[in-house]
Amino acid sequence: MKYFSIQQTLRRTFLDGLLTSMLGLLIVGCGQDGLQQENERQVLQVLATTTHLADLARQIGGDKIAVSSLMSPGVDPHSFRASAHDINRLHRADLVLYHGFALEGKIAQVLEGAKKTGHAYFSPCEKVSSSSLIYSGETNQSIDPHLWFSPDIWISCARALSDQLTKVLPEYKENFQGNLEAFEKSVRQVDQWGQSLMLSIAEPQRVLITSHDAFQYFGQHFKVKVVGLQGINTLVEAGLADRANLVDFIRRHQSPALFVESSVNPKALEEIAKESGAVIGGTLFSDALGAEDQTVPGIDGKPLSTATWQGMMVHNLTTIARALNRQL
Ligand SMILES: [Zn+2]
Repeated sequence: MKYFSIQQTLRRTFLDGLLTSMLGLLIVGCGQDGLQQENERQVLQVLATTTHLADLARQIGGDKIAVSSLMSPGVDPHSFRASAHDINRLHRADLVLYHGFALEGKIAQVLEGAKKTGHAYFSPCEKVSSSSLIYSGETNQSIDPHLWFSPDIWISCARALSDQLTKVLPEYKENFQGNLEAFEKSVRQVDQWGQSLMLSIAEPQRVLITSHDAFQYFGQHFKVKVVGLQGINTLVEAGLADRANLVDFIRRHQSPALFVESSVNPKALEEIAKESGAVIGGTLFSDALGAEDQTVPGIDGKPLSTATWQGMMVHNLTTIARALNRQL
């Protein structure tokens, strides 16, 4: 018969216990990792090119899909170039959401190439009726891609996306439908609030001057005259004549404020403000949404992330109204 001292027994018991706990942790750890990998395999992996589309997919897909964005807040989609890592992400996703209408100008070929490999690519924007689109350019042949600034058009994009997600995951049809209805309702609330806010600005002052011409849909919907220093994409720099014309316009219309954009270099517009005597009215979100943790007070006073369409619009509408009503 073997005897152990109390200390030996305790040490043994302790070591046994430790070993058992470590083994347990190891098993639980493997189990959790396995479960996570299993979940990742089961949940549809959606990669959206822009922050606007990623937000739309999150709001419509809810917890039934996993969404990530190729571009980050503050990134200009017109000049965005895909790295090898980005291309790898495009190839790995179950579904790629892209905007189209040449918004992702520099990666259009990458997207075309990936589409040919048979990957699932979908643009909710290209489903919008052509009669709702704004055409621009010298020959009026270029489609203005900044569709998210029209609440009506963005709702129709949401519907197209909901239909597509239902095709891919028919078992979640009711979830997508419910999310779509909630999205439409919140967009309409922001829309109505925004329309009365814009009407609070005296008509001659209701002029929105920005770095590039991203706000035509916004202007049409909210009855605001819009003027952009650059055209509908940011790749062609404004020339001297464009600058002189804008300075002249500001002086003639006594426009109180200019607005820089979070995804465009503000330098040119700041120089024009200096030259014309106008002030910079604030930074607007145009071609990229804000960061997740950057919030604004929503219509109900609760914090709203500028990484959402609703937060972006509340921020822009508030900034515009404050500056044009000369409440800076
Ligand atoms: Zn743009």
